[in-house]
Amino acid sequence: MLNKYEKTMKTFEYAIIGAGLFGSAAARYVSQHSDSVAIIGNDEPANWQAHSENFGSHYDQGRITRGLDSNALWSELALASIEAYAEIEERSRIKFYHEVGSLQVGPSPQKTDDYIAKTAAVGFAHQLMFQNYTSEQFKDVLPKMAFPEGFSVLYETELAGYINPRDLVKAQLNIAVGQGATLIRQQANDVSAGSEGVTITLSDRSTILAGKVLVAAGAWSEFLLNQSFGFELRPRTIVLARLSQSEAERLKDLPAAILYYDDPAREVDGFYMLPPIQYPDGHFYLKIGGHLRDLVPPKSAEELNAWFKSNGSEKEAEGLKEAMFDMVPGLQAEELITRPCVVSATPDGDPLWKELVQNQIYICAGGCGAGAKSSNEIGRRGAMMMLGSN
Ligand SMILES: Cc1cc2nc3c(=O)[nH]c(=O)nc-3n(C[C@H](O)[C@H](O)[C@H](O)COP(=O)(O)OP(=O)(O)OC[C@H]3O[C@@H](n4cnc5c(N)ncnc54)[C@H](O)[C@@H]3O)c2cc1C
Repeated sequence: MLNKYEKTMKTFEYAIIGAGLFGSAAARYVSQHSDSVAIIGNDEPANWQAHSENFGSHYDQGRITRGLDSNALWSELALASIEAYAEIEERSRIKFYHEVGSLQVGPSPQKTDDYIAKTAAVGFAHQLMFQNYTSEQFKDVLPKMAFPEGFSVLYETELAGYINPRDLVKAQLNIAVGQGATLIRQQANDVSAGSEGVTITLSDRSTILAGKVLVAAGAWSEFLLNQSFGFELRPRTIVLARLSQSEAERLKDLPAAILYYDDPAREVDGFYMLPPIQYPDGHFYLKIGGHLRDLVPPKSAEELNAWFKSNGSEKEAEGLKEAMFDMVPGLQAEELITRPCVVSATPDGDPLWKELVQNQIYICAGGCGAGAKSSNEIGRRGAMMMLGSN
């Protein structure tokens, strides 16, 4: 199999495009099976404004992780990934998992398909450790947080908290490279299948020939492949509240939290908040994100890249700030900063693993705003799909 690729300079048995959360996990698995693996992907730009290429959705210090989910598949993907965290940390010597617990909060259920009822049912089916409180009872459990009257709080204290996505990517890449994979810090601008293999054209115009290629370029995957999979690219805004040392200390025991009002009248709903986390500038920040209903998806890589150079949506930021101060009464923020990001939502809400050109090109993408914590298992399944087909 390898011989026919030995004719040209840069040839690999396998190539993975996208050195983000899914791609780095896939690369770790593929490089366990082959010593001819390339990982092609841009690194996080030091200066976003000066960056002319694609971005990633993992440039942050915190992503919530939890086994509890209203969707059984997402719960399975998360649990399988959480189980692997310790091994990845040990092998890479990079700590990225912080087991601080996680809350899921929503209107107390009236029907079995309400969010809280569905989430608890998946939790019971997967034998997860969690407590169920009313928002009134929860005031005694954690007085530093507040939720609306008549809501339920599912509190997962084990196998839940947050991961540092930058460090997880670093850890996966370290292991993959240690296993012999080659990391190529460039953007792929074209992928085409031919009789000799798959030709990948890089941003410096050089080419690589690979036997099989897995595209894991996140929200840019459709643009790279020039093919639609029905993704809705949701431009997202986050708000970071900079905390003083004393405020960070006061709030240091907060768990991660997800709050759904499930109220169509709200322009922004589906909030998630991370506890105080130290960022590269040395400060601690409390982060909140959410879901603005009224969004305008970018239609091209250029529009998406331009979104990453903006400050996000003012309307979404206003809704987020209000929710943050409601959830943490008395919060003292020294500064509020907004940042843009993007979520790739698939039509069925599951990640997409698909063979696109028989035995040659595959895709693993569609994190649906929940893929960071589960990226190890999602990437592993992508790797197995590519390795398993002949
Ligand atoms: C604001 C926000 C909050 C989130 N919060 C959570 C959370 O709390 N918990 C959770 O589990 N998930 C969360 N997510 C989702 C999670 O971050 C994504 O599901 C995850 O990043 C998807 O991984 P990916 O590898 O598909 O994409 P990415 O992580 O974006 O990686 C794709 C990589 O491909 C690279 N790339 C792009 N185009 C090319 C190209 N042409 N050639 C080469 N490389 C290319 C990019 O530079 C990037 O490095 C959140 C997402 C956002 C936006």
